Amino acid sequence: MRSRIMIKEKLLLSIILLSSLIVSAGQSDWNHANPDTWGEKGFDLTGAKVAGAFRGSASNKLKDGSYIKAGMNWQNRQRMGKKLYPGRYKMFARMKGKGIFRLRIENVKNKKVRHTFPDCNVDTDKLTLFELGEFGYKRDYSMLLTDDKSTPGLWVDYIYVRGISDMTPEKATQRADAIRSKAANLKVLLDEAQGKGLAVGEQNAVYAVAMRYVQYGQDDVARGGLIRGTKVFDYLDKSVPNAIAEVRDIIAKGWPKAGRKPDYTNLSIKRSHLYNGEVPVYLTSIAWAPSDIITSLELNWRYHFNGFFAQAKDPLHSDEYNTKYHEGILNGVGKGVTAGLATTQCMHTHHKFPYLKKYPETRYIKPVQGTGPHNPCFETNYCHDTPISKEAYEQTVKKVLRKFDKAGLWSFEFFNEPGYACQCEYTMDKFRYYLNREYITIDKLNESWGKNYKDFNEVKKTDLSRQGANNYDWLDFNQERFYEMVSWRKNLINRLCPGLLTHVKIISRRMFPLGNHDITWGLDHEVLAQLNPITAHDGATSGVSRAMNYDLYRSFSFPFGRLILDTEAHPGKPDGTYDQTHFNMWTGAIHGESGMSIFLWRRKETANIHWYEQDDIATKPWEMEAVSRTHQQINRLLSDVIPLTEVEPEVRILYSRTSRLMDIDTHMKEAMEVYPSLLFSGAHVGFITERRLAGRQFGNCKVIVVPQVNYFPKDALQGLAEFAKAGGIVVFAGPSEFKTKRGLERTTLKEILRLKVSPGQKRPYGKGKLIGLKSALVGKRQTVDGGAPMDLPVEMETGKDKLMSLAATDNWVMYEKAISKILDDVRIDRCPGYSRGVEARRYVDKDGSELRAYLNYSMDKPVTIEVPKGSVELITRKNCNGEITLKPLGVALVKIAK
Ligand SMILES: [Zn+2]
Repeated sequence: MRSRIMIKEKLLLSIILLSSLIVSAGQSDWNHANPDTWGEKGFDLTGAKVAGAFRGSASNKLKDGSYIKAGMNWQNRQRMGKKLYPGRYKMFARMKGKGIFRLRIENVKNKKVRHTFPDCNVDTDKLTLFELGEFGYKRDYSMLLTDDKSTPGLWVDYIYVRGISDMTPEKATQRADAIRSKAANLKVLLDEAQGKGLAVGEQNAVYAVAMRYVQYGQDDVARGGLIRGTKVFDYLDKSVPNAIAEVRDIIAKGWPKAGRKPDYTNLSIKRSHLYNGEVPVYLTSIAWAPSDIITSLELNWRYHFNGFFAQAKDPLHSDEYNTKYHEGILNGVGKGVTAGLATTQCMHTHHKFPYLKKYPETRYIKPVQGTGPHNPCFETNYCHDTPISKEAYEQTVKKVLRKFDKAGLWSFEFFNEPGYACQCEYTMDKFRYYLNREYITIDKLNESWGKNYKDFNEVKKTDLSRQGANNYDWLDFNQERFYEMVSWRKNLINRLCPGLLTHVKIISRRMFPLGNHDITWGLDHEVLAQLNPITAHDGATSGVSRAMNYDLYRSFSFPFGRLILDTEAHPGKPDGTYDQTHFNMWTGAIHGESGMSIFLWRRKETANIHWYEQDDIATKPWEMEAVSRTHQQINRLLSDVIPLTEVEPEVRILYSRTSRLMDIDTHMKEAMEVYPSLLFSGAHVGFITERRLAGRQFGNCKVIVVPQVNYFPKDALQGLAEFAKAGGIVVFAGPSEFKTKRGLERTTLKEILRLKVSPGQKRPYGKGKLIGLKSALVGKRQTVDGGAPMDLPVEMETGKDKLMSLAATDNWVMYEKAISKILDDVRIDRCPGYSRGVEARRYVDKDGSELRAYLNYSMDKPVTIEVPKGSVELITRKNCNGEITLKPLGVALVKIAK
């Protein structure tokens, strides 16, 4: 009963605050709909703010009217359908005005109408809640709310759904009590096992999750999230007894024993991984609400994590940075360090820069997105490059960092999701200098750009275009300039806090050709990834694209790039199931990831919803349990896994920065087609960059695959030719034109160093060979649901295969056979057991023992793989009897004794 009383108190508050809005709902009855506190899912479209509801771009509109259409993009990004579990729902809308409201639900992909609600007659000048009707949802399509524009006189303020279910707060209390009582039994067993020195960390996590999420489930139901709350209870009803059985088994066997806990406050980097002394460490932390670091800290303990992301509200966002927030951060950092966690502080610089307001001369009015030849990023309305801007940054950072060097921080993230494209006069002057440096004489520039400048000073920002040399020069300059700016900041911080590890959180998935942000944002991934001891990135990729993301990042320098931390991790993508989360974390670890921080905004526990998709982990006990258990498994097995990540690839895909700049997406799309065929070939796959070719850093690479490289610098071209001459195999995936970096044709065979072969042909080249394959970039290209630019497709269908996450089209399989044959001819080391959708990787130790990793990327098909008798699967600690069966998204680490 207590929770019910609390709800009434909260409602009373709502009534006082929103008395003008509450019209139709009987607030004292839980079963009535109140948009401020009830429901499974809601969209705050515009007008009066609904606490805790999703508020997208449409909420900023000031005119009245229906904003459903205006909110399309944002609806796509929020993926309403992904928030709802299968079930029946009631639909509500809050409106005012006069007219008929016709709401429909469409399938995002094909725009087919899946449900039409009856016409709703609105005639009121006060925002009023209307019940529109019922609908069923099986989660078999992605939902989009739409109307027929027949409602110009209506102000549609808020839309939400509530599940239809026989769940009640009373039933929820009964189920929650039963779960708590089972969890109490689990706790007794856990204490007994721990007393005997047994390893029960994973089962401890189940207990922690159960105790916290059971309350979430009750809260959900109390607020009308009937279906969501029921799901929570259904899961905990199974997970707690499972953990009890596991602990009983461990006690009965007296095995496994708990290991020594490393000191997470004392970490060092060896090659590209983290260690405490000789013990390798995979770091996991959870960053809760940005301003609630103490809750975050508590959660890190509770879920057995070893890191702590002391992410307080951005000090640079606030004029009060050196008082309230600064003290708060230091307090949190201190507590994290005292708790024995590897503590990171994040100073986000993103969106707003109040410290520059004092310097109006640094203000730069950026063009509206999409209007200029080079879109500026969302970053800023100020120039960060001028001496005044730098001085202002330095003064601000000095204040923020004053005490950090003594705070015991492990690392410091000084830039969040950066991007930059300022074209102020100061910048344009720098650009003119760049042009002068590159072309030396104005005649050469005129020839290259087709202009008649008398002087470099005549170059204006309105002269910039998306074509040819002009395009290349601006983008190349912007990447160079931005890198210099970030380096300057890094050096400043290193000087202020010597010894503090620094990192920048780059949105690494933006190198995929969806949205093209890295082009216009000045992101040269390769150099930025090498700037700091740690490559921090904002991954949010799953399955194949996650693997490719890491393989590319690790190939940026010889031999394995920098240590990779995902400091804005969403490991549950796409749906946040236990298996997806477990799979993505293992994919990361096997491809060299050293840790992650799960980024969580607020769960909005006082309301029915929360802001972003990634918050779903706060509604999904299975996802949190998967993170905690997988994190512990990875740490337990990391000394076996690290050598596997350090096997040098014999096959590498050429990553051409120049082609990415000039061609925007052809090159990367072809790379995305080639990559899966290599990932599922049993070989280790990596990438090779233009800079490494120019430096003749081939490693032990035997095959280089060239995916539509239409623009290429001369020194890299020479490197590629030398690689082939010395015996390397160059495979052309699709045609490669090898124009110069500024887009001039290399017309003769001699100019392209005879590096040309037709599709289907092959010919010798020095001691090596050139092989031509047809491009896979034909047919319909897959796009993200509704064209949302930020995200990658999360699954692909190839024939009957449904694989986790992928590529540009479904045509990648056309490379499979050809590539497989090439690998056999060249005798590339391939791990047995690979097949379409199954990654197999292996490491053979000096003593002849072998570790094999198997990852089944299929979302619906189990697979059985033959392995030598007597081998052991390390995650489950079970003996394999000559074979191992992976369920969909299953992972196995098979240890084979010599
Ligand atoms: Zn500027």
